[in-house]
Amino acid sequence: MPLNSQSTIRDPTARRNTSPRDEAEDARRVQLIEVTIDSLAEVGFVGTTLAEIAGRAGVSPGLVAHYFGDKDGLLEAAFRTLARVVAVRMRERFALAPSPRARVQAVIDANLGPENFDRRTGNAWLAFWGQVLHFEGLKRVQTAYQRRMLSNLRSDLRRMIPGEAARSLAAMIAAMIDGVWLRAALSEWEEADSESAQALLTAFVDGRLHELARSAAADGAQAAPGSMPHRGPDSERSIRVINPATGAQLAVLAVDGPAQVNAAVERARVAQKDWRAMTGAERGRLLQRAARLLREQNDALAELETRNTGKPIQETRAVDVLSGAECLEYFAGLAAGLAGEHIDLGPKAFGYTRREPLGVVAGIGAWNYPLQIACWKSAPALACGNAMIFKPAELTPLTAIRLAEIYREAGLPEGVFQVVQGFADTGRLLTRHPDIRKISLTGEVGTGKAVMADAAATLKQVTLELGGKSPLIVFDDANPENAVSGALLGNFYSAGEVCSNGTRVFVQRRLRAEFVERLGARIAAMRVGDPLDPATQVGALISAEHLRKVLGLIARGRAQGARLVTGGERVTTGALARGCFVAPTVFDACHDGMDIVRQEIFGPVMSVLEFESEEEVIARANATEFGLAAGVFTNDLTRAHRVIAQLEAGTCWINHYNVTPVELPFGGVKMSGLGRENGRAALEHYTQLKSVYVAMAAIDSPY
Ligand code: NDP
Repeated sequence: MPLNSQSTIRDPTARRNTSPRDEAEDARRVQLIEVTIDSLAEVGFVGTTLAEIAGRAGVSPGLVAHYFGDKDGLLEAAFRTLARVVAVRMRERFALAPSPRARVQAVIDANLGPENFDRRTGNAWLAFWGQVLHFEGLKRVQTAYQRRMLSNLRSDLRRMIPGEAARSLAAMIAAMIDGVWLRAALSEWEEADSESAQALLTAFVDGRLHELARSAAADGAQAAPGSMPHRGPDSERSIRVINPATGAQLAVLAVDGPAQVNAAVERARVAQKDWRAMTGAERGRLLQRAARLLREQNDALAELETRNTGKPIQETRAVDVLSGAECLEYFAGLAAGLAGEHIDLGPKAFGYTRREPLGVVAGIGAWNYPLQIACWKSAPALACGNAMIFKPAELTPLTAIRLAEIYREAGLPEGVFQVVQGFADTGRLLTRHPDIRKISLTGEVGTGKAVMADAAATLKQVTLELGGKSPLIVFDDANPENAVSGALLGNFYSAGEVCSNGTRVFVQRRLRAEFVERLGARIAAMRVGDPLDPATQVGALISAEHLRKVLGLIARGRAQGARLVTGGERVTTGALARGCFVAPTVFDACHDGMDIVRQEIFGPVMSVLEFESEEEVIARANATEFGLAAGVFTNDLTRAHRVIAQLEAGTCWINHYNVTPVELPFGGVKMSGLGRENGRAALEHYTQLKSVYVAMAAIDSPY
C-alpha cells in the first residue's frame, strides 16, 4: 500500500462497511484524507483549509465538514491514517520476522521503507508535528503512535539485552527514526533516501548491540553465538557493506578477531557434542524446519541479497534462497540414512564402520552467491553432525547473518552454526585454528592454495570450490537456438559472476556466423537495469574494484584483436551511473592466447572461438589450468558422451548449461578445486570412518 502520489492511502485495517452506499462514503473519506495529505505536503498546515481541500477534491466545503466536522477533525483523521499505515506495515513485517533482532529491524524498515519514506509523506508528518503541541487530537495520535513503537522496541530488545539498556536503546532508535525524517524533510529530501536511512539505523542498532555484547563478555557473560553482536562498527577495523547498484551503504559490521574466533570455536566445540548425539532423523527435522523458514522468507531474503550483490531480483527470488532451501531439504532427508557398513570376517569376528562427524568445521564463502554458498556448506555439515563456523565474503556478509537467525529459530542448538565476519585475516584464523577439523572454501585459485597451505599445518581436510574458465562446445548439428540459450545462461546470469560459466564458447565453423548473429539479436533484447526492478535481467557487478577489472579485460580483448560484437562498455544511463553496470559483451574471432580467453573475468564477457574438428576442440578446451565445468551442444548423443568423457572438468552438461540440481555433486578438477559439494558425495567430505573389529572368540595368543 504505497504512500506516494500515485497511490491511495486506503487502510486495510479500517472498518469495512458492506452496503454500496457505505462503501461510497468510505471511498469519499479516503479521497478527502488523501487530498489533505497532498495539500499539507504542498502548501503546509496554514494553507490547508477546508476550502482548499474542497477545491482540490472538487466538492463543496460543506461536504468536507459533513464528513469531518472541522479542519481539526479532518487533520486528526489524516494523521491517524498515516500512523495506522505504518502500524499495518509493522505488523506485516513482524509476521515474517524470525527473531527479536529481526523484529527490531521490522520497526526500522516499516518506518523508513521506500514505500513510506518520501517527500509527500514526510512533509505531511512535518506539518503534523508542528501542530501536535497545540491540538489535543493530534497529540493523542502522536502519543499512541510513539507508545506503540517504543513498547514494541523495548519488548524485543529486552529479549536480547538487559532491561535498562533495552529502554534506553528503544528511546534512541525512536529518536533517530524521527530525526532522520526531520532532516530529510528539512533538507528538501536532498540529504536522505530510504536505503541510506535504513542502513544508518541498522548500523546504529548493530553497533550498540555489539558494544553491549562486548561489555557483557568483558563482565564474564556469554554473548549469543552467531548473532547480531558480530555486526557493528569495530574500534580497529570494520566492514562497510555497499549496495553496488547505488553506492549506498547498507551496514557497517565489526571485524571478528582472534578473541571472537576462539570464543566461537569453543562454543561450537561444546554445542557439537550434543548435536552429534542427536539422531540423524532429529537433525533432519530441524533442518527441514529451517528450509521452511527460508522459503517463507524468500522475498525478504532475496531483496537483501539483491541489495548486497547487485543481482537482479528476478534471479534472487527464483534461485538464490530457494536453492539454499532445497539443499537443506536434500541433506535433511539424507541425515537419517547416514550409516556405516557391516563386514563379515568369518565365524570368529566381524567388523563394522561408523560414519562419524568431523567435529567443528569452517565454511568460507565467496561473494557471488552468498546465501546459497552458506547453505551448500552448512546443510551437509550440519546433517552429518558437525558444528559449522561460517565466514562470508566481506563484500556480502548480510544474508549469512539471517541464515544463522533462521537456524536458531528452527531450533538448532546455540553454537551449532555461527557466523564470523571479516576479511582474509579472519579467514586465516579459521584455517589455522587447531580445533577446526575441516575448511570448505569457495573462492579464487590463489585463495585455495593459501587455505590449503594453512590447513596443512593442522592436517585439516579441505574442500575447495575455485575458479574456472570453462569451455562450452557447440557442434554444427546442435539446435542453434538452444545452444544460444545455453551460452546466454552460461555467460550473463548474475552478470557473469558465476564460477562455472562457459566463457570460452567454441562454435564449429559451419555454424559460427549464424550463432553469433542469433546471439547478437537475443542480447539486444536483454535488459540491464535497477536490480530491484523485476524486469531487469542484468544487474550490477559486485564492486567498483571488480568493475575496473572487468572493463580492463574488455579493453585488453579489443587491444589484442578480438572483434566486439556487442556491449564492451559500462552502462551509465540515468541512475545506473551510480552503480557498477556493464553491458553484456560478446567478442568474436577470439584465439586461444588472448587474455580474455585465458583468464577468469567473472563478468558479462563471452569469447567466441571457431573450431573445425572434434579432436581439435577437445585439445583446445583442455588447454587450461582450470577444470571446473564444461558443456557440449550436439544432437549426436554418442558424440556428446564421447567428448564429455575426454573433457577435463568436474561438472558437465549435455545440451544445457549451468543448471546445478542439488542431487548432482558439484566441483572441479585441476586448479578448479578439490572435493565436491551437493549430492551424496558431499557426505563423504563431512564425515570420517571409524573401523571397529569385534572378536567373537577367545584370543589365540602366542604369549
Ligand atoms: P576470494 O578467493 O577472494 O575470497 C573467498 C573467501 O576467502 C572470502 O571470504 C575471503 O575473504 C576469504 N579469504 C581470502 N583470502 C583468504 C585466506 N588467505 N585465508 C582464508 N580465507 C581467505 O574469492 P571471491 O570472494 O573474490 O570470489 C570469486 C571467486 O570465487 C572466483 O574465482 C570464482 O570462480 C570463485 N567461485 C567458485 C565457485 C565454485 O563453486 N567453484 C563458486 C563461486 C565462486 P574476504 O572476501 O573477506 O577477503
